[in-house]
Amino acid sequence: MSVLTSISGFPRVGRNRELKKIIEAYWKGNATLDDVRGVGRELRAEHWKLEQAAGIDLLPSNDFSLYDQMLDTAILLNVIPARYRRLSFKEPEETLFAMARGYQGERGDVTALPMKKWFTTNYHYLVPEFDEATEVKLNGSKPFDEYEEAKALGYETKPVLIGPYTFLKLARNSEAQELDIDEGLIDAVAGVYAQVVRRFADLGAQWLQLDEPYLVMDKSDADVRLFKALYSRILPAREDRVKILLNTYFGNIADIYETVKLFEFDGVGLDLVEGRDENLAAVHQHGVAARTTLFAGVVNGRNIWRNNYATSIGLIDALRQTTDRVAVASACSLLHVPFSTQGEEALGEDVLKHFAFAVEKLDEVRQIADLVELDDDAKRASSALAANQLLFDGSRMARDEAVAARLAALSDADFTRLPARAERQRAQKEALGLPALPTTTIGSFPQTKEVRAERARLRKGEISQDEYDAFIRGRIDEAIRQQERIGLDVLVHGEFERNDMVEYFGQNLNGFLFTKNAWVQSYGTRCVKPPIVWGDVSRAQPITVAWSTYAQSRTDKPMKGMLTGPVTILNWSWPREDISNEEQTQQLALAIRDEVLDLQNAGITIIQIDEAALREKLPLRRSDWHAKYLDWAVPAFRLVHSAVEPTTQIHTHMCYSEFNDIIEDIDAMDADVISFEASRGDLVVLDAIHDAQFETEAGPGVYDIHSPRIPSTDEIEERIGEILDKMDVDKVWINPDCGLKTRGNAETWPSLEHMVEAARRVRARL
Ligand code: GLN
Ligand code: ZN
Repeated sequence: MSVLTSISGFPRVGRNRELKKIIEAYWKGNATLDDVRGVGRELRAEHWKLEQAAGIDLLPSNDFSLYDQMLDTAILLNVIPARYRRLSFKEPEETLFAMARGYQGERGDVTALPMKKWFTTNYHYLVPEFDEATEVKLNGSKPFDEYEEAKALGYETKPVLIGPYTFLKLARNSEAQELDIDEGLIDAVAGVYAQVVRRFADLGAQWLQLDEPYLVMDKSDADVRLFKALYSRILPAREDRVKILLNTYFGNIADIYETVKLFEFDGVGLDLVEGRDENLAAVHQHGVAARTTLFAGVVNGRNIWRNNYATSIGLIDALRQTTDRVAVASACSLLHVPFSTQGEEALGEDVLKHFAFAVEKLDEVRQIADLVELDDDAKRASSALAANQLLFDGSRMARDEAVAARLAALSDADFTRLPARAERQRAQKEALGLPALPTTTIGSFPQTKEVRAERARLRKGEISQDEYDAFIRGRIDEAIRQQERIGLDVLVHGEFERNDMVEYFGQNLNGFLFTKNAWVQSYGTRCVKPPIVWGDVSRAQPITVAWSTYAQSRTDKPMKGMLTGPVTILNWSWPREDISNEEQTQQLALAIRDEVLDLQNAGITIIQIDEAALREKLPLRRSDWHAKYLDWAVPAFRLVHSAVEPTTQIHTHMCYSEFNDIIEDIDAMDADVISFEASRGDLVVLDAIHDAQFETEAGPGVYDIHSPRIPSTDEIEERIGEILDKMDVDKVWINPDCGLKTRGNAETWPSLEHMVEAARRVRARL
């Protein structure tokens, strides 16, 4: 019998982002819900076909989603806040989209559910909300329908659901607080899952995968009790009719492994990429229950480099010292990698052979499963294994000695900006002469079809660089005119020249590579196309200086320069696996430092260095936060700006507000000003800012840009009031919660007008 193969999940937007396109067409009124459903069906069929053709045994179903799997789970458990029910939509998808995006129309006006990063990925899930009226019960039939749909096409699938522990740990109450989980709630939630298990058994499913990534997080005793309470109620429902795979990823479950073992799941999925050493040690220490198959997550679902087969075989052999029952699997869902390397041939065979996207990873899973069955002689004779080993023989890299020399020459002084921040802030207030509660934006303005079309024309050679530049200058002029009309205090040029805040920089840095079509879902229909760090990084030429100085020449207001920080560039790229993230980040920091100094020397006095992604790569276990991340990520940011003049004001921006627990580290980045998201979730962070005597001036976002709805002046004024209850007025900036690139002009300008007006009203009362 050959070794069992499985993947946790597959990308759902489609090879050419078909799902994104049809859903957005539907939102615009250019397609019907039936069109959307039809495309969903086609994609599912295609994906199952690919998986089966590659030799995957346990094909996932219900890994598909119109927006987000956490949202689907909330709906399945009937966790739909009353404000969405009241909209009384006829079609379930309409309610789903209202929860995901907010709704403003004839039926009412509601904001979207908050959105958060899915563990350390750049994927965002919607945060399920329990309100007073929530009654947990099975609602809808999506997982069953998709299972039967596959069956009708001839595929036996393994349905995939977010597990109850992860669901409850990530859900919030109406005040955005963690749930108070009592017996009643545990019973209700476990009851629904038990019902799901039985229903799948009735339908003839052989395996059911429950994803419990939250198990890789630190746990309290109460957490362990919760896990036990849930699964002791759910597992009996399998009655030997259906197997349950408890799937974990993004880290290790060593601290609960023994408990998990005692539950005798039919399968336990272990991440042997991110949780390798701890998971292996736990298995060796505690053993494996007789009925349990370990699903060895050896194929990385988080990066695009080819798997090192010898390493993977070694890992599986290590597990086999403890049990014969080992299946080969992806370490997490392939949702987080692009669809296929097919179509990227422009990169050249010598480059492309180093990469495996989702489709290619299917083959890797199968090949590894086949290879582990070979005896040593057969392994030595295997051409697949030999070809794979050639990729890791050290011949790939072209190291840049100049970069290495610069890194080696750094001293503590390069990481320290002088004078101290309080003194700088005084000097900056004087030099800039801004009013109290200065208003600004995060950097980008709507990137309309027209802007993207011009960039496409440039790429195709239909217009010259001069024509394109003139077009961009026109957009900048218009953005400045609008900002001045509204009365914003610190202007931005609008970032029209940038396709993406990371790719744009990558294109101007040595060491990066780019793909044509390697899109990955970020949230809903939003996809990103991260560049690839291929070699040592340095700045090829000034990147933003010409645009920023042009923009400054068109206005008397301060024009904020706009850069992406080193940690974010790395976190939103595909990093190398042959050198550490720390080293890659330092290389990037030096490159951006060159740009900061050039901007300052060209007369730009406010420079924003976005670290939008700093929080998302914070290790999941608290004990790793500093040693494995912050101890180099924070200094890397300081390295970027340590050499500027005291009166050059350094801003940073972060796309989230969950940094109360690392607030001192954020302050230690030593920026002068930070803007961050606070409009969607709670304002807990404001308490943290208060308690930590946070020195950085701060602009907590006063409205949510992730939704097309236009906030009223009153609403924003009230929000500013809440902020001023907690923060010293001298330290407060007024801004939206993120860049406006994905918004339309129709909602952007009225929203900003309301924001500036609200700031004026509050200012008048000071
Ligand atoms: N400056 C960037 C923008 O406005 C920041 C984007 C982000 O935080 N994701 O688009
Ligand atoms: Zn942001």
